[in-house]
Amino acid sequence: MKVEEIFQVYKDNIMPTYNKVPLIFVKGKGSRLWDINSKVYLDFFPGWGVGNLGHCHPKVMQGVRDQISKLIFIPNNYYHPFQARLAKELIYCSFPGKVFFANSGAEANEGAIKLARKFGASTNDQGRYEIITFENAFHGRTLATLAATGQKKYQSGFEPMPEGFKQVKFNDFAAVNQAITSKTVAIMLELIQGEGGVNVATGDFVKGLRKICDEKKLLLIIDEVQTGLGRTGKMFCYQNYGVTPDILTLAKALGGGLPIGVLIAKKEVSDLLTPGMHASTFGGGPVICKAALGVLRAIQKEKLLKNCQAMGGYLLEKLNILKSSYAIIKEVRGMGLMWGLELSIEGKHIVQKCQESGLLINCTHDKVLRLMPALNITKHECDKAVRILEVALKECA
Ligand SMILES: *Cc1c(COP(=O)(O)O)cnc(C)c1O
Repeated sequence: MKVEEIFQVYKDNIMPTYNKVPLIFVKGKGSRLWDINSKVYLDFFPGWGVGNLGHCHPKVMQGVRDQISKLIFIPNNYYHPFQARLAKELIYCSFPGKVFFANSGAEANEGAIKLARKFGASTNDQGRYEIITFENAFHGRTLATLAATGQKKYQSGFEPMPEGFKQVKFNDFAAVNQAITSKTVAIMLELIQGEGGVNVATGDFVKGLRKICDEKKLLLIIDEVQTGLGRTGKMFCYQNYGVTPDILTLAKALGGGLPIGVLIAKKEVSDLLTPGMHASTFGGGPVICKAALGVLRAIQKEKLLKNCQAMGGYLLEKLNILKSSYAIIKEVRGMGLMWGLELSIEGKHIVQKCQESGLLINCTHDKVLRLMPALNITKHECDKAVRILEVALKECA
């Protein structure tokens, strides 16, 4: 198909649910993407958070190739060795408990919500079901995860939302304390709100949440769909805070580009969902588990946590220099290789200018530029990205 024909087919045959950029990509390797006209781009937002290893990492590609030649699918009423291995490795690098395999971030969070409700139903005669979530959160697009997502712009037109969610201000411990009732069963949050504008939870806030969850027997659900798998310089972002969640959800980067979602629950609640209560046909299939094992191996073998910390620090230095030169940058915030630049103007023109110069970045919450390069990014690539970004800032300031 020719370029114009592809655009037309999308227009005629695919629901218009995405704000689309008129670029057609056909090949990717590491932090580089090739479009249909063979123009090369430096990707500083690979896969919308999926590409912690960049595009088409060899360990993932090889694992997928091997597995596809043997067995693509086996239903979850049977066993498969790679699902066992992946579960064991995930528990090893998180905390004692058990996993449930799903296919996306929303689905992992949906499972976390169901498990929390089951826990509530099992611990109190009246049943506790209410979950406290936060303004500007993002937990997914299914109805329950939309209800958990504290943003009206995503909910509008889809009401009524499922009941049982209460939103309070992020980083406001007093507000959480006030919102807790005898119906409350869990607190659910992202430690860095990705879609909501790269808002970083404070250490005291998170420690406070852990403490109050312990005191009131609430579950602390941490959504690491975006921050997980090395993005913040630790395997999981919660490890930067010295607290452990009761339920952890993962998705985006885990499959190295293939769809997977995982819910990890601590021992005390991990046996509440018994046969027939929850399921996913495709969850944890052999190909995806092999891909995810490749991702975990690459993070370890290629010392990507260390590189993330080093390159994250390097990039922060460069971004702070930009901040001191361009007054439109109000704040630089984030962790590891997850950076947001809050602007005093809308960011979309800067994103557009960068794209024309061969750099892909993102803008979220209208005014926050978001950079989330692959964890194996090099100094040279960071320099190049910052150079392009600076030119775009200069033109838009
Ligand atoms: C992307 C995202 C989700 C939703 O994941 P999907 O795979 O698109 O369903 C949930 N939570 C967070 C924090 C996310 O960034």
